[in-house]
Amino acid sequence: MRREDLATCISCGLCLNDCPTYRVLGEEADSPRGRIQLIRGLVETEGAPTETTRDHLEACLVCRACETACPSGVPFGRIMEGAREVLREREDGGLGESLGRTALDTVAHRRRLAWFTRLTDLARRVGLLRLSRALGGRIAWAASLAPAREGPSFEGIDRPGATTALFAGCVMREAFGETERATVRVLEIDGETVSVPDEQTCCGALHAHAGEGERARELARYNIDAFAGSDTKIVVNAAGCGAHLKAYGELLAEDPAWADRAKRFAARVRDLSEVVRPRAARASRPLRVVYQDACHLAHGQRIRTQPRALLRAVEGVTLVEIADPERCCGSAGVYNLTHPEIARALQRDKVKAIIAARPDVIVSGNPGCMLQIAAGLKDAGSSARVMHLARFLDDPDAAFR
Ligand code: SF4
Ligand code: SF4
Repeated sequence: MRREDLATCISCGLCLNDCPTYRVLGEEADSPRGRIQLIRGLVETEGAPTETTRDHLEACLVCRACETACPSGVPFGRIMEGAREVLREREDGGLGESLGRTALDTVAHRRRLAWFTRLTDLARRVGLLRLSRALGGRIAWAASLAPAREGPSFEGIDRPGATTALFAGCVMREAFGETERATVRVLEIDGETVSVPDEQTCCGALHAHAGEGERARELARYNIDAFAGSDTKIVVNAAGCGAHLKAYGELLAEDPAWADRAKRFAARVRDLSEVVRPRAARASRPLRVVYQDACHLAHGQRIRTQPRALLRAVEGVTLVEIADPERCCGSAGVYNLTHPEIARALQRDKVKAIIAARPDVIVSGNPGCMLQIAAGLKDAGSSARVMHLARFLDDPDAAFR
C-alpha cells in the first residue's frame, strides 16, 4: 500500500457513474471515491477493520473502470490489491478463511486443478450439473458457470529458435485446451515459432485480487524463472492474466533481488490481439459479431481497437457494438461466486445489451467473461455462440457448429 497512490484521488467524483457496483448498489461507500476514503481510514489506524469497511472493499470488482474515468490517474487496481492485503493481515479469519485460501490456490496446483476440471466435466456428462441447476440458489448459479472442458489439457512445447513464448495459464491450460491450440495455430500462421515452457504456473492475479500478496509474489517469481533464458515476447490469451503479468514489475518493485528481472519480464508481455496481424480469414456465411470488452483488456491494458480490427478483417463479419460496452459483465475472477447477487445483476444488463444488438457470435479475450455471458444468454433463451478470439480467428466457421 503506497500512501502516494492514495493521495492521487482529489475526490472529484467523476468516476462514480462508471463504477458498476455504485450503479447497482447506489452507495457512496461502494464507489471508487468512497472506497478510497475507507482505505485511507484503514491505513491511518492499526486495528482490525470493521465489518462494514471489509464488506464495501470486498464488493469491488477490481474491474478498473474507475481508472479509465479518472482524470487524476488514480491507480485503483493497485490500491485495492494493497488494501485487501492489509485486510488479510489484520483479520483473524479462522477456518473459513484458510479453507477459502486453499480453494483459491487450487489454480496454482496443476494436478489438483486437472482433477477438479475433470470431475466437473464428468458431473456435466452424467447430468449432475443440470440437476444442480434445477435446485436453484447458489449451487445452481455456480453450476451454470462451470466450464465445459475443451478436449485434452494443453501441454508444453519446446521449439528451438522460438520467436514467441506462450503464457498458457492455469484454468486456460486445463479447461480451454482447444483455445490454447488455436492460439498457437493463429500465431504460427503469422510466421511465429511458438514455445510453451512447461514449468510455468498460474499468474497469481486471483491471489493478488484476494489480498494474498505473498503468494502472488511467489507465483510471479516462479513464472519469471520459467520464462528466463530468452528475450522473446510472451503472448497471453486471457485478459486478467495479461494485465497482471504486465504488472509484475510493480508487484516485485520492493524486492531488490527480483525487481529488475520482474520489470524486464513485464516488458515482454503482449496480449494475443497486440501481436496477430489482421488477415482475411473467411466465414462461409455472413455473421454479426459482438466484441466483448473484457475489463482487464479495456481498462487494465487499454486494448480496445486491436481485437476489433482483427474481427473486421474476417470476410463475412459485421461487427456490431452494444450499449455501454465497457461495463463489467460481473465475472471478475471469482467475484461471481463470492458476490452472486451483484454479479447476476451485471450479467443481466450485459446480456440485455448483447441481445439488443442481435449477434450470431460474441467474441471475447477472457475466459471468465465467456462463461458469465454464455450462462446469461442461455438463461435468456438466446442461441448466440460465445467464442474466444483465438478460436474465431483460427476457424470462423466454428461459430456454426
Ligand atoms: S474497480 Fe470497478 S467496482 Fe471497483 S471501485 Fe473501480 S469501477 Fe468500481
Ligand atoms: S478516483 Fe479519480 S475520478 Fe474518482 S473521485 Fe478520485 S480523482 Fe475523482
